[in-house]
Amino acid sequence: MSIETNITELKQEINQICDRIGRSKDEITLIVVTKYVTIERTKEVIEAGLTDLAENRLEGLNEKLVIQADRDVNWHFIGNLQSRKVKNVINQIDYFHALDRLSIAKEINKRADQKVACFVQVNVSGEASKNGIDPSEVLEFIESLQNYEKVEVVGLMTMAPHTSDQTAIRQVFQKLRELRDQVAAKQWTHAPCQGLSMGMSNDYQIAIEEGATHLRIGSRIVNEEG
Ligand SMILES: *Cc1c(COP(=O)(O)O)cnc(C)c1O
Repeated sequence: MSIETNITELKQEINQICDRIGRSKDEITLIVVTKYVTIERTKEVIEAGLTDLAENRLEGLNEKLVIQADRDVNWHFIGNLQSRKVKNVINQIDYFHALDRLSIAKEINKRADQKVACFVQVNVSGEASKNGIDPSEVLEFIESLQNYEKVEVVGLMTMAPHTSDQTAIRQVFQKLRELRDQVAAKQWTHAPCQGLSMGMSNDYQIAIEEGATHLRIGSRIVNEEG
C-alpha cells in the first residue's frame, strides 16, 4: 500500500472514532514516526499533506532534517535522550516527548535557544523495559521543573504494554489521563499540561477513546505492508 493510501484510510478511521465518541478531530495531532524508513519514504508522508514527523534517535533526525529546508515540518523527538546529546537535538525540534529526568531538564535549560514544548514521559505500566517516571512521582517531578524556564510541560506521554489485552492497554491510557488532569488542575504556569501523547499503530483506537491528543504512528503508515 502506498503511504498516501495508508494515511487516507487512517484519517478516515480517526474521524469515524471521533464522530462515534463525540470528539473533534481537530483535537488530535497525527504524528508520523519515520524512524524505520528512508528519507524518500519520509518525503511521501509530507507530500500526502502531513506536517508532524517523529524520530527517536539523533542519527535519524539529523538525516531527515534536510527535508525541512523547503517544507514546513514540525519535528517531534520521541526517544530517550542522553544529557550529552541534548545540545545536538534541542534546537532542531518542536516537541520533546520523553522528558523523564531532572538532569535532562537542566541540560535543556542550558542549551535551548527558546522555550521547548515537552511531554513528561510516565511509565504507567511499570515494565522494567520502559522509560519514564513512576506515576506516584509525576506531580513532584513536574513541580520541580519550574526551576527551568526553558522547559514548558505541554502534556504527558506514555507507551502502552505490547499486549493483546485491550483492558490492560485502556487502563494505562486512563491512568495517564487522570495524571494529566491532576497536573493541569495545579495551574502551574510552566506546565499548562493539556496534551496526552499516547497511541501507536497497535492501540491508537483505544488511545483516541481515552483522550489522546497526539498519536505517534509508525508502521501502520510507513511500512510497505501497511
Ligand atoms: C517507534 C515508536 C512509535 C511508533 O510505533 P508503531 O508501533 O510503529 O506505530 C511510537 N512511539 C515511540 C516512542 C516509538 O519509539
